Amino acid sequence: MSTPVLVTGGAGYVGSHACKLLHARGYHPVVFDNLSRGHRRAAQWGTFVEGDLGDKDAIKAVLLEHRISQVLHFAAYAYVAESVRRPRQYYRNNVANTLNLLEAMVEVESDTLIFSSSCATYGEPDTVPISEDHPQRPINPYGRTKLTVERMLADFGDAYGLKHVSLRYFNAAGADPAGEIGEDHDPEPHLIPLVLEVAAGQRPHVAIFGADYPTPDGTCVRDYVHVSDLAQAHVQALEYLAGGGGNTAFNLGNGDGYSVREVIDSAQRVTGRPIPVIEARRRWGDPARLVGSSERAREVLGWNPEFPELDAIVDTAWKWHGRGTP
Ligand code: UDP
Repeated sequence: MSTPVLVTGGAGYVGSHACKLLHARGYHPVVFDNLSRGHRRAAQWGTFVEGDLGDKDAIKAVLLEHRISQVLHFAAYAYVAESVRRPRQYYRNNVANTLNLLEAMVEVESDTLIFSSSCATYGEPDTVPISEDHPQRPINPYGRTKLTVERMLADFGDAYGLKHVSLRYFNAAGADPAGEIGEDHDPEPHLIPLVLEVAAGQRPHVAIFGADYPTPDGTCVRDYVHVSDLAQAHVQALEYLAGGGGNTAFNLGNGDGYSVREVIDSAQRVTGRPIPVIEARRRWGDPARLVGSSERAREVLGWNPEFPELDAIVDTAWKWHGRGTP
């Protein structure tokens, strides 16, 4: 029988790509998702359970019913700007609901959790590329919720023997190369899909949020990492813990920083279409430059991204974006 893995947020962007890979690797994903941000159609692999992490009894029931000891925990709100406006919802969903999940796991003796953490836990970095031992000083509520959970995991590990890995993603981007799933947020706040909507003629222009940052072209620099490569790291992290690896955190990025303008240039190359821009004010809570060193993930997990190039990442997103159009 294939090993069951609970995937909270498995109908979401990164979670659905992880389910596809889990299934391909012979695991049985059990998606637990309230569909508040995910899509039922994205949960195509394994078993789907509509449920909310606010309901601890429902979490326990699914863990017991499917005899689950391993959990991939994706379910969370993940927009920096929204977290600044609505910290209550972010602490409730990302922190309080994760506490429910951890309590449920302890109570039914599920012992392994891979957590979707974020480079937002570092805040404004002293040095780039950022390594895992860089101080974590988040500058927005979203990053603070993720850091709070990392600390909860450490305490649950010490006290109850919970085995855990936190994966600190840099900027998740791109889509399943086979085109079955991709990024589908409503409203869409992320740069690459917005730029592609402009290329597709669905928006008149893209706004550059701040052209006065202390970066070479004045726009924010980010490290874009393909969503299928993130999925890969989750399966490797499960195997790492199953093989006796210790509780830890890994950065997941490509180590290359691209500015907002460079992302727009890439999208123009990939799509062959013009992408008009306007310059707008900075978005609150955005650090100038976030670029990660993922040497540890490469060495310890054997992580080897398949899509490290920005144009390749944008290309998979563009193919997903154009699905269904002739
Ligand atoms: N950004 C932008 N215009 C947009 C959306 C995003 O200039 O319409 C910038 C944003 O300020 C950040 C970068 O693009 O510097 C990546 O933003 P995104 O929302 O994609 O990811 P985040 O870094 O917030 O996780």
